[in-house]
Amino acid sequence: MPHTGNSFRLGITGAPGVGKSTFIEAFGKYLTDQGKKIAVLTIDPSSQLTKGSILGDKTRMEALSKNPMAFIRPTASGNILGGVSNKTREVILLCEASGYDVIMIETVGVGQSEVAVKNMVDFFLLLMLAGAGDELQGIKKGIMEMTDAIVITKADGDNIIHAAKAQAEYQYALHLYPESTSGWLPKVVTASAYTGKGIDDVWKMIADYQNRTTTSGFLKQNRSAQHVAWLHACFDQLLKSDLQRLKNFQSTLKKMEHDVADQKLSAYAAAQNLLDAYYAAIKNQ
Ligand code: GDP
Repeated sequence: MPHTGNSFRLGITGAPGVGKSTFIEAFGKYLTDQGKKIAVLTIDPSSQLTKGSILGDKTRMEALSKNPMAFIRPTASGNILGGVSNKTREVILLCEASGYDVIMIETVGVGQSEVAVKNMVDFFLLLMLAGAGDELQGIKKGIMEMTDAIVITKADGDNIIHAAKAQAEYQYALHLYPESTSGWLPKVVTASAYTGKGIDDVWKMIADYQNRTTTSGFLKQNRSAQHVAWLHACFDQLLKSDLQRLKNFQSTLKKMEHDVADQKLSAYAAAQNLLDAYYAAIKNQ
């Protein structure tokens, strides 16, 4: 733990096909060319079967995966969301202790994992396409609200003009959300991973955020709050899994579930009975 905390933690999300892996290739190259060591942790909640196949990610970010300054690791999604966030958080700390400067946590912007990722990063980046509409891109309501910046991808060729239009529209839309506690106004930039145009703007914007929030103290406060929330989440999980071994408690739990389902008891009264059963089970163990 004393060796952690020196990296910048960046969350990157967006619908499949928006250009996340191509963007991370280009962005990663830009950072490693500046002498920064980067780690990319990818979470794909849909890849339960492959457990986030390493091969898949190697081919997705081919150049970066061969770059000695970069480390790419798919995080197996496991069965529960808590599992993803626990493992990912631990890998973030390990990467920090090993001296990585920027840690990117990539996720597909269609599920719940975005909230988990938002709660473990310093900056949350949403990648969007021009002219595809939020719903078409599978962007869940609430994700826009969590973002610190939107990157309109594929801003090259004929698409430049559409990207500029989308930039103005999203910038306007972001103004409608309440101001974030960091005091940072979310930005919208355009970038092309093909031409490299705008890639440096993305980093400049993030570096600006890092400077401002370091000076204001928000970066540190936010991380402390995230760590405390993680403690609570871990403790909740430990308690829950501990309950599994208390057989008497488990039988009362089944009974309470029936009573609540049959409307014999209110959920609150049943929960109180469960607490009593828990104390009794602990005492008798
Ligand atoms: P992901 O599913 O979000 O990781 O998206 P990919 O990075 O795999 O990109 C999806 C498709 O968009 C691929 O065919 C890419 O070649 C293409 N693409 C990605 N970035 C760009 C870009 O900057 N410009 C253009 N024109 N196409 C891009």
